[in-house]
Amino acid sequence: MSTIAAIATPNAAGGIGIIRLSGEEAISIAEQCFRAYSGKPVNEMKGYTAAYGEVFDSEGPIDEAVLLVYRAPKSYTGENVAELCCHGGLFLLQKVLRAVLALGAVPAQAGEFTKRAFLNGKMDLAQAESVMNVVSAQGAAALNAARNTLQGDVSKKIASVAASLVAAAAGLAAWADYPDEDIPEVENGALLKTVTYAEGELNRLIARYDSGRAVTQGVNTVICGKPNVGKSTLMNLLSGYSRSIVTSVAGTTRDVVEETVRVGDILLRLADTAGLRDTDDEVESIGVSIAKERIETADLVLAVFDSSRALTEDDYSLLEQCKDKRYVAVVNKSDLPAAFSVEEIERAVPHTVVISAKDPSCADALKTALEATLGTGGLDFSQEMLAGERQLNCAKNAAACLKEAREALESGLTVDAVNVSIDCALNELYALTGQKATEETVNEVFRRFCVGK
Ligand code: GDP
Repeated sequence: MSTIAAIATPNAAGGIGIIRLSGEEAISIAEQCFRAYSGKPVNEMKGYTAAYGEVFDSEGPIDEAVLLVYRAPKSYTGENVAELCCHGGLFLLQKVLRAVLALGAVPAQAGEFTKRAFLNGKMDLAQAESVMNVVSAQGAAALNAARNTLQGDVSKKIASVAASLVAAAAGLAAWADYPDEDIPEVENGALLKTVTYAEGELNRLIARYDSGRAVTQGVNTVICGKPNVGKSTLMNLLSGYSRSIVTSVAGTTRDVVEETVRVGDILLRLADTAGLRDTDDEVESIGVSIAKERIETADLVLAVFDSSRALTEDDYSLLEQCKDKRYVAVVNKSDLPAAFSVEEIERAVPHTVVISAKDPSCADALKTALEATLGTGGLDFSQEMLAGERQLNCAKNAAACLKEAREALESGLTVDAVNVSIDCALNELYALTGQKATEETVNEVFRRFCVGK
């Protein structure tokens, strides 16, 4: 396999910049472009050691650098790895990169270092996916969850579920294939217990992911309500600075303005939308249709009502539209005399919060309502958590197969049918950890990575 190289630090000037090499030739290439001031040859350096010296190309010295050497298999990728830690100047890093490429290294693709770690058995696919989550974590809880997955918590849980199913399926297969042999009949009760246990464990992981996603990935959130109820003001309250155009002329927030804000540990991906009323105005109606569409696809809706004006048909239809969604009713302008009783909304909506979006001290009440709605309040991020939609889909598919198996068992169907369902569940679990993932899946996972990781 070729030796790959990339600038592993961000594409900007910084304190230090690192050129990372991985592959059989990594150390011999480093030897040809780095000279230790101590005079010690690079190829004599042991794994996990560093040398201070000078990095150079065919034209002469480029920079002072520290060379770190890792020897296979004890490295991130499982291959020989050399890291040249230079000053963090982009031009000089590119010059060092060109030097190592001239010596035979090839440019690394996005995520290729981690992909090699996966291919060399240093981590499974579930762990590899969490690497990017560690890098992109925007809060303590998100980091905690990503680190647990990286350390293999999800993989261990999936392995234990799979092992119990394999044991059950092995007994089933033998019994079904050799009915004449003296193999004890698989006991329905024991099998049902195993399948129910496995299904339960997967459903727990799935449920935790749904709540945890608010923290680890962010929640697609839409703020909606009639014109002038205070949607833009609410968005500004959430983001802590003026982002969208706040105006008292009805219907002027015409485009969808998006931004990400963190409320406590919760990450909201907010879309401010045009007013939700029916309108003939051409420009505005585009915004309104986008708003309706967004409600359909949003994970969370913040439905805003103006407590200083009587509720109208538009408000009632918004309540109706949100009915099956996860949503918070934000009754705004509590500083003004109330034109309707909040109870009217509270009766219809499980999570209602009364605030004045103009008053920053109301942010806490909003946060509490969000935590209650998203179920993140009591979430334990030290427990294993699926890292991303791909893993979630595998877990959901596996749980669906097990549900089939359980129902087949409960209705006394043949073991063949049960066996097929258990097999299907196992395939999904192996895809989750990468044991049986297709090349396409593996490539898709690493495409999301940055170069140098
Ligand atoms: P949008 O059309 O729903 O985005 O509403 P805006 O955020 O543009 O607000 C409409 C008007 O209501 C503006 O004049 C705001 O200053 C005002 N407003 C928003 N929130 C409050 C509030 O809590 N109290 C009062 N008194 N006025 C508010």
